[in-house]
Amino acid sequence: MAGIIIGHFPCNWERFLDLIPPQYHGSLDKRFFEEGLGFQVSIAQQLDALKVIPYLDGRFIEAQDSDLSRFYQAGFKGLKVLYIPDEDSEFGRIGWRKFYRISKINYQRLINRMVEQAFSFGWPIIFHADLRRYGDIVKEILQTNPGCPFIVPHFGFSRKIMAEFLERFDHCYTDFSSLLSFMQNNPRDYIDFIVTYQDRVLFGSDAFLGQPDLTADYLKFVTSFIGEESILTKIMSENYLRIHG
Ligand SMILES: [Zn+2]
Repeated sequence: MAGIIIGHFPCNWERFLDLIPPQYHGSLDKRFFEEGLGFQVSIAQQLDALKVIPYLDGRFIEAQDSDLSRFYQAGFKGLKVLYIPDEDSEFGRIGWRKFYRISKINYQRLINRMVEQAFSFGWPIIFHADLRRYGDIVKEILQTNPGCPFIVPHFGFSRKIMAEFLERFDHCYTDFSSLLSFMQNNPRDYIDFIVTYQDRVLFGSDAFLGQPDLTADYLKFVTSFIGEESILTKIMSENYLRIHG
C-alpha cells in the first residue's frame, strides 16, 4: 500500500490546518504534528502485515528546506505535490503563493527543484493539479521526464484533458479518488473512461484513508459496474506494481 505522509511540518498547528481542506480537520491526529509520528511511520515501512510505500507530502516544504535527500535517506519512496499556486475551490481561501508569500516564478522554481530531485531518486510523483488551469505545466514535466512514473490524481479534474495526457504519455497515470459522487451521477461515462484506460487508472492513489466506509463505497462502485476480473486486478494492483517496479 502506498501512503502519503507529511514529513515536514510548519511551525504551528494553525498554519498546518491552513493547507488541509476543512472537511479533514476533524480526523487529524495532533500527535502526528507534535511528535513527528509521520516521519517515524515512513522509516518503519511495515505496519503489522501491511507493507507501506511512503510518499513524501511536500506541501509544507519551502525553498530553504527543499533538498529532499534527508527524506530519501529516511526511506521515502515517492513524492506527492499539491500544485495549488492560487486560490482553489477545494482549498478555499488560500493559494500556496499567498501562504508562503512567494512570487510565481519562485514557486515554480521550488516545485521544479523538488520534481527533478524526486525523479533523480527514481521516485514516482503524485501531482495533484487541475489540468484545466495547469495543464501546460504538467505537460512540460511529462515531456522533460519520459519514463518517470507520474500520477495525476482525480482524473486531473477533466476527463477530456486527462485522456489526451494518457494517450500522449505512457508514463502518466491517474486515479478516481474524490470522484465518487460524480461517478455515481454518471456511471456510464466514468466506467467507460476507466475501462478505456485500464492500464493507467489506479484505485485511489491520492485518497484519505481515515474513512474505511468510504473506501468500501468506491470498491462497491467499481466492482458493481466492472464485471471483468482482469480489469479490476489492473486498477487495484497490477498498475501499482508496474509503477513501483
Ligand atoms: Zn489530491
